[in-house]
Amino acid sequence: MASNNTYSAYAESGTETLKKVTRGFRPEDSVISVETHAIGGGKTGVIAGPCAVESEKQIIAVAKAVKTAGASFLRGGAFKLRTNPYSFQGMGRDGIKLLATAKKETGLPLVSEITEIKQLDYFYDIDIIQVGARNMQNFSLLKELGKYGKPVLLKRGLASTVTELLMAAEYIMSEGNANVILCERGLRTFETFSRSTLDIAAVPWLKQRTHLPVIVDPSHAAGDASLVPAVAKAAIAAGADGLMLEVHNDPEHALCDGEQSLTPDAFSDLMIALKKYAELEGKIL
Ligand code: PEP
Ligand code: MN
Repeated sequence: MASNNTYSAYAESGTETLKKVTRGFRPEDSVISVETHAIGGGKTGVIAGPCAVESEKQIIAVAKAVKTAGASFLRGGAFKLRTNPYSFQGMGRDGIKLLATAKKETGLPLVSEITEIKQLDYFYDIDIIQVGARNMQNFSLLKELGKYGKPVLLKRGLASTVTELLMAAEYIMSEGNANVILCERGLRTFETFSRSTLDIAAVPWLKQRTHLPVIVDPSHAAGDASLVPAVAKAAIAAGADGLMLEVHNDPEHALCDGEQSLTPDAFSDLMIALKKYAELEGKIL
C-alpha cells in the first residue's frame, strides 16, 4: 500500500523504491564525460594504470604507455585500503601530486580512490573520484560526494547485491550528483582460483535497470594477469560501457597487485583486440 511517509516502510526492499538511478527516471543512457573523454552511450571508456602510485618515474612511464595504447583515463591509488596493515598504504597526498604531473605530461584525466571524506580537499586535481568496494556502503562518504558533484566511480562491495549497489548510487544521486559510474569487480565466494568471482550477469541486469554507465574491473576479479584479457573481452561482450585495468611498468616489483597487473605490451595487445569486441557491440573504444 502506498504511504504518504517519505520514508516508506518498503524502502529496504528493492529497486522499485529507487528514483534517480532507474531507467524510469531517465530512459536514455547517461554519459559521463571529462574533457574530451567519455564513458557510456556507445563510448567504451578504458581506465588504466597501476594499482598504486609508487614514484614519479613509475606513474609517468605507465601514463605514457597506456595513453599510447589508447586508454582514455589514468588510474592510480594514492590512498590505499590494504587488508594487511603492514602492506604499502599508498603515497597519500604526494601520490595525488604525481598523478597531476602525469596528467600534465599526457593529458589523460585522472581516477583515484578516496578512502575518507577528510581527504576531499586533496582531490582537486582528480577528475573521477573512486569509491572502493570496501566503502560502497559508507553512506556519509557517498552523501558528501553527492554534494561535491565531481564524477564518482562506485565499485560494488565484495559481498553486496546489485540492488545494494544501485541503492548506494542513489545516495550519491539523491544529493544532486548525476555523474556516477558503476563498477562490477567480483564477489567473495567459496571459489579460490580467482581473487574474486566476477558476476558477469550483473552487467546486463544493471544495464536493464539503470541509465548509469556500468564498467567492469577484470584485474581485481581475476587477480591474475594471464586471465585478464579473456575476462575483459567477456565484459565488453556482456555490454559493459568500459573497463578498469591495472597496468604496471614492472609488475614483478610492484608494491601492490603486481600479479594481476598487465605489462604495457600486454595492455597494448589487449586494446587492439578490445576495439574489435567493442565494434561488434556497436560501440567505439
Ligand atoms: C582498486 O581499484 O585499487 C581497489 C582497491 O579496488 P576494490 O575497491 O574493487 O578492491
Ligand atoms: Mn589494485
